[in-house]
Amino acid sequence: MSYAKVFSVGLVGVTGHLVEVEADLAPGLPAVVISGLPDSALHEARDRVRAAIVNSGQRWPNRRITLNLLPATMPKYGSAFDLAIAAAVLGGSGELPLVPLDGVVILGELGLDGTVRPVRGVLPMVAAAARAGRDRVIVPVENAAEAAVIPGVRVRAVDTLHRLVCFVRDGDPLIEPPATPPPPAVDGPDLSEVAGQALGRRALEVAAAGGHHLALLGPPGAGKTMLAERLPSILPELDDAAALEVTALHSIAGLLPPGGRLLRRPPFQAPHHTATVPSLVGGGSGLARPGAVSLAHRGVLFLDEAPEFSKGALEALRQPLEHGRIQLARSGGGTEYPARSQLVLAANPCPCAKPAGDAYCECSPLARRRYLGRLSGPLLDRIDVQVKLLPVRAAELMEAATASESSATVAARVATARQAAAVRWAPVGRRLNAEIPGPHLRQPPWRLPARDTAELRGRLDSGAVSARGFDRIIRLAWTIADLDGRTRPQREDVLEAIQLRTGEGA
Ligand SMILES: [Zn+2]
Repeated sequence: MSYAKVFSVGLVGVTGHLVEVEADLAPGLPAVVISGLPDSALHEARDRVRAAIVNSGQRWPNRRITLNLLPATMPKYGSAFDLAIAAAVLGGSGELPLVPLDGVVILGELGLDGTVRPVRGVLPMVAAAARAGRDRVIVPVENAAEAAVIPGVRVRAVDTLHRLVCFVRDGDPLIEPPATPPPPAVDGPDLSEVAGQALGRRALEVAAAGGHHLALLGPPGAGKTMLAERLPSILPELDDAAALEVTALHSIAGLLPPGGRLLRRPPFQAPHHTATVPSLVGGGSGLARPGAVSLAHRGVLFLDEAPEFSKGALEALRQPLEHGRIQLARSGGGTEYPARSQLVLAANPCPCAKPAGDAYCECSPLARRRYLGRLSGPLLDRIDVQVKLLPVRAAELMEAATASESSATVAARVATARQAAAVRWAPVGRRLNAEIPGPHLRQPPWRLPARDTAELRGRLDSGAVSARGFDRIIRLAWTIADLDGRTRPQREDVLEAIQLRTGEGA
């Protein structure tokens, strides 16, 4: 037998595809040829696999070896094919009867000494195997718990190539995945810990209910970060499809917490303002690492001190904000990752970050305008809710200490409001108020009666509110109505929306 075939999985973006790994051994000068759009890591696979086979006490066939990874047109990245390639070579050379590996999907990187190393992206790879009707996978032992998350697949793990060889040749057992530990108690930050800040809390609740992006402007000590960190705690849990997608992205980034379970809470990402563009949007050699915009997918992306981010970084956020996904240029084709998150940005009113009116702040009005001006254009334009927060005063703190609502209480209102919006917009295929195009809201049957929008139209005529701002305020008014259990926004909802949009009372 000089031909063998085994199965593995490659990733295109966040989606796995079954890959056939073929090995053909022919007489002739000893050589290894790999075909099927391999990247450089795959070329290095040749050297890793050879050393691992020899150091596992197996014979390396001194023949002309052709390795073919199918489908050939699919770009393949990373080192997860090593173990499958080793099995195919040993099968093709007649060293190993591959019958026990029939239909089994094999994943894993090889060390030169024959150890099997963990790989990124095992969860979406095993999900793809299941989708393709494969119900058995062999994975690196460090990835076993993660692989076992996918139902309907029998997961077995290996720590060395030698263990795989003993399994195939002698029927020795493989390693079973660890039993799934009970889910950890949810004890993330809770809104009950935020004292006072009625406006900030309301803005957070409205943002959560309508899926609106949120800007929190205010001096240090106003609680901007405290509020932002608690947004995930009032968002609904991820449904099955979203949980799988979010968990897959964290798997590809190599950032899944140990234990192996689907991520059910909306993620929270807070990249520092010195973050590089690749760390924000993704990149790196081999299998591209998702950046913060993708790790925040279906959750919250928080940019603290947003004006301090580089111009390039802010510019790079434009594409994911507009399209909900990010394209990364790769050799042999692009990679695309989902990146639909709720943006929360926080900014001080001026570059020196001293409280407004503080004797030490010497920033000119021009400097202040210019500072926040860095956010206009790509970001601020897309943000529905913009509130100005003041530092919490001592009296407010004392008074509010016992009165703060918990995240669970607010989350229940958010869920009810989202349900109302989802039912209303189902005929147009949308779920959240933030997703509804402005013109849609200005036409019957959704157009609000003139008496309810008089103040808002006045601001439009005077130029205090732009046409786009007008639409954003109407959108917010719908969310406020949903939260308060009204079927349509009324004048008071529009007035509150103006306040949440402009930071001023009406
Ligand atoms: Zn200042």
